[in-house]
Amino acid sequence: MSKWIGDAMESLLASRMPVMTVTDTQYINPSLKQIRFSGDLSNMHFEPGYAVVIRVSDIEHRNYTPTFYDTERGTMEIMFHIHGDAPGSNYIAALDVNDTLKISMPRGKKVYREPEKPQLLFGDETCLGVAFSLYPLWLGSGREFRFVFELDDANRDLPDRLGLTNYSVIPKKFGAENETLLTRLPIFENDTWRNWHNGNFILIGNAASVRNFRNVLKKRDVPGKSILMQAYWAEGKTGL
Ligand SMILES: Cc1cc2nc3c(=O)[nH]c(=O)nc-3n(C[C@H](O)[C@H](O)[C@H](O)COP(=O)(O)OP(=O)(O)OC[C@H]3O[C@@H](n4cnc5c(N)ncnc54)[C@H](O)[C@@H]3O)c2cc1C
Repeated sequence: MSKWIGDAMESLLASRMPVMTVTDTQYINPSLKQIRFSGDLSNMHFEPGYAVVIRVSDIEHRNYTPTFYDTERGTMEIMFHIHGDAPGSNYIAALDVNDTLKISMPRGKKVYREPEKPQLLFGDETCLGVAFSLYPLWLGSGREFRFVFELDDANRDLPDRLGLTNYSVIPKKFGAENETLLTRLPIFENDTWRNWHNGNFILIGNAASVRNFRNVLKKRDVPGKSILMQAYWAEGKTGL
């Protein structure tokens, strides 16, 4: 998108794009930055898993998922994966207290659904925020739930640092190696699988891993309606 189209859209949608001020930033570790924002969120409707768009340069926009929101107090938090030298990553790394930015209306897929069924969330560092916002809801439901994270070695302790439980961590691998790791997950063991077969599966993060997990589930006859997929990024593509 060219700069002038970005500018024009922002002024057309001004009333629907609140200006948020950074009030706090915290590095959970060098590749996960949590930022708290403050602004007028009174017209915004949030759901767990809904994402907002942030303009990260004159011509680029990226999606990020608020982990916490309080529309009355006008506060919101997001966990950002600082993954390397790219427009979004660099912009977020540079954000500091008192900086301002605009956010779009939150929108997306509803990840909190049918809590009476076993729930599994699979994803990488980009989905830790979604896990963090689902955790209290799933814990409160008293039903079975599990997180499966594929993380860089340096990030293996992030779920623990965030206070999450009920999780497995697998290393990041590609292709057949990734699929093999997924098929070895404890939920697929015979007795356990009898229960999990009727579960809901939320697969987000790296597009290739999401596809691999879906293939593993399909081979086990999990119906499509029980699988919610959303690629958050794909190797070699920019700004999904
Ligand atoms: C609905 C939705 C919600 C999202 N929520 C979040 C969120 O809450 N927190 C969050 O951190 N991200 C989130 N993402 C992912 C984030 O938008 C992407 O990672 C985005 O590509 C980052 O932009 P960038 O400019 O840093 O990299 P880009 O310029 O988009 O990508 C450059 C290259 O970097 C690589 N790359 C991109 N992202 C990653 C990554 N995470 N890890 C490793 N390599 C990568 C790819 O090979 C890509 O070709 C979300 C995405 C979507 C679609």
